[in-house]
Amino acid sequence: MNKSISDTRGDFKVGCHLSFAGGYAKMVRDALSIGANAMQYFSRNPRGGKSKPFDAEDAGKLLETAEKHRFAPFMVHAPYTYNPCSANEDLRRFARDAMSEDLQLQAKIGRSFYNFHPGSHVGQGIEKGVELITEFLDAVLPYAGDTVVLLETMSGKGSEVGSSFGEIAKIIRAVKNPEKLGVCLDTCHVYSAGYDIINDLDGVLKEFDAVIGLSRLKAVHLNDSAEPFASKKDRHAKIGGGFIGLDAVARIVNHSKLRGLPFYLETPNELEGYAGEIKLLRSIRKGD
Ligand SMILES: [Zn+2]
Repeated sequence: MNKSISDTRGDFKVGCHLSFAGGYAKMVRDALSIGANAMQYFSRNPRGGKSKPFDAEDAGKLLETAEKHRFAPFMVHAPYTYNPCSANEDLRRFARDAMSEDLQLQAKIGRSFYNFHPGSHVGQGIEKGVELITEFLDAVLPYAGDTVVLLETMSGKGSEVGSSFGEIAKIIRAVKNPEKLGVCLDTCHVYSAGYDIINDLDGVLKEFDAVIGLSRLKAVHLNDSAEPFASKKDRHAKIGGGFIGLDAVARIVNHSKLRGLPFYLETPNELEGYAGEIKLLRSIRKGD
C-alpha cells in the first residue's frame, strides 16, 4: 500500500497563506512542497478586484490532493478592502455583494472556512458597528452552503470591531443563522489586543469559553507579533521572531484546547521561509 506522507503526521494540521495566482492545483502542490496540510488563500485579489472565473477541473485536482493528504478545511480569506460596517452605504454594499459572490464560489468547492475581518466602525461606535455587521451577515450567510464563516479576532487598531471576545459574541448572538458562524483566533491580534497568551493562555481560553464558547473556535492564525503586548497594533512577525516568542508558540500548538484545530501561518515569508517554520512547528509539537 502506498502510504502518503501525511498518514505519518498524526493530527497536526499546519500550513500557511499561499498565492492563488497559479490556480488551485498549483497552490496545493506548493502546500505539499513545504510540508503543509492546511492552506489559506485570498478569495480574490486582496485589493478587491474581480474574482477569477471558476475552473471546475482545476478545483477537482485541488480536492483530490487535499483528500489524499488529509488536509484541514481550506481557509479562504476575504480581502481587507471589505468593510461590513463602513459608514458609507456604497462600501457596505460592495462588501456584501463581493462576499456573497465569494461564498457562492466557495460552496462549489466545499470543505472550507471563509475568514473575514469584522470591519472598522469609523467613528460610528461599537454598537452601530455590531449592528451593521449583523445586518451584513444576515444578508450573506444564506449563500454560504456548508462553508463555515469565521469572524477573526482583531488587534483593535483604529476603530476595528472584534478586538474583544465580547464584541464577537454580540455579533454571533445577534445573527439569524449563528450555526454558520465560527471564530478564527489570530495569536498576533489577540496579543496586541491585550489578551496575555504568553503568561496566561489557560486564562485567555477560559475567558473565550465563557464569553463566546470554545465550540465556536475553528482555527488559529499562528503569527508572532512585531509590536508589544496590548499595543493595539497589527504587525505580524516570523515565528519566534517577535514579542510572543517560540516558548509561547510551543504551548499554543500543544495546548489541549487548541491542538486539534488547524493552524494557518500569516507570517512575513516566502515559500522557503514557510517551509522552515512548518518544519520548526512540527519539531516542537508533542505527542502525535
Ligand atoms: Zn489573521
